[in-house]
Amino acid sequence: MNNPKNFMNWDNPGIALITGASSGIGAAFAQSLSAQGFDTILLARRKEKLKKIALQLQENTLRKPEILIADLTKLNDIIRVSEKIQLMNNIDVLINNAGFGTRGYFENIPITSHKDMLFVHNLAPVYFCRAVLPSMIKRNRGVIINISSIAAFSPRPQSVMYGSTKEFLKTFSESLHYEMYDTDIRIQALCPGYTRTEFHSVGYFKDFDVNLIPKETWMSPEEVVDLSLNAFQDEKVVFIPGIFNQKFIELYTNPKLGKKIRENWIKRARIPRY
Ligand code: NAP
Repeated sequence: MNNPKNFMNWDNPGIALITGASSGIGAAFAQSLSAQGFDTILLARRKEKLKKIALQLQENTLRKPEILIADLTKLNDIIRVSEKIQLMNNIDVLINNAGFGTRGYFENIPITSHKDMLFVHNLAPVYFCRAVLPSMIKRNRGVIINISSIAAFSPRPQSVMYGSTKEFLKTFSESLHYEMYDTDIRIQALCPGYTRTEFHSVGYFKDFDVNLIPKETWMSPEEVVDLSLNAFQDEKVVFIPGIFNQKFIELYTNPKLGKKIRENWIKRARIPRY
């Protein structure tokens, strides 16, 4: 059977494991990769949502995704998934996408939430990359996308752990990229800005008013995914999707020009302590 063109131009697309595939950016990656001929493994906690997405993918692409239920705040689940990756020994694309946000001052958020974020955003990607890379290196073929955020460039109050864990993913991905210098394995730290997903309506963001964010700053998860996969045509490792986000971070990180923007951004995120 002829395979549709895929973002790596591989003759045989292979297998993609996507964490956080039950909604938003992860579901959009699953849709795009499946349409490109990849067999997908969809990981998340919500079985019913995954089943629904798997059914849609199967209808659209005639490929039956595998569903993997795991809670990445739990070390046992992280280890179970790592062992599966090692046993399979043939994953071609790993997308570490699962994530969530917290809101509030560091000292007011329960330590268990801080620990959960470290597990989901950092420990799980480290385990999964460690599990997948030996087989990728042996076959000299593979792609890893770690979903960071523009928050990795813009430390601010009320987002202490989020920005820090996303910064880890950025440096982790860049460092891994440098280690892969003598292989064809490609690593990307994808750093989206505001994206219309469930992110801003679940957990700590349940009562968040999304209208506070200017309309023009939002992107759709499909746009983010298309731009991320297209970016593999360049050598970029840290990739910010969308001109608005790119310009914002360019200005924000400019030592002189960004001073006012940084001050405003930080001030806006301050609310009275309670
Ligand atoms: P989303 O729609 O809320 O999706 C988050 C995904 O992560 C869901 O599939 C969720 O599945 C999964 N997940 C959360 N906690 C998990 C856990 N403990 N174990 C396993 N899976 C878990 O949000 P999204 O915007 O697509 O987020 C995807 C990634 O993009 C995140 O890493 C986020 O930080 C990043 N990002 C988002 C934005 C934005 O504005 N939306 C901006 C920059 C970066 P279950 O609930 O079913 O487990």
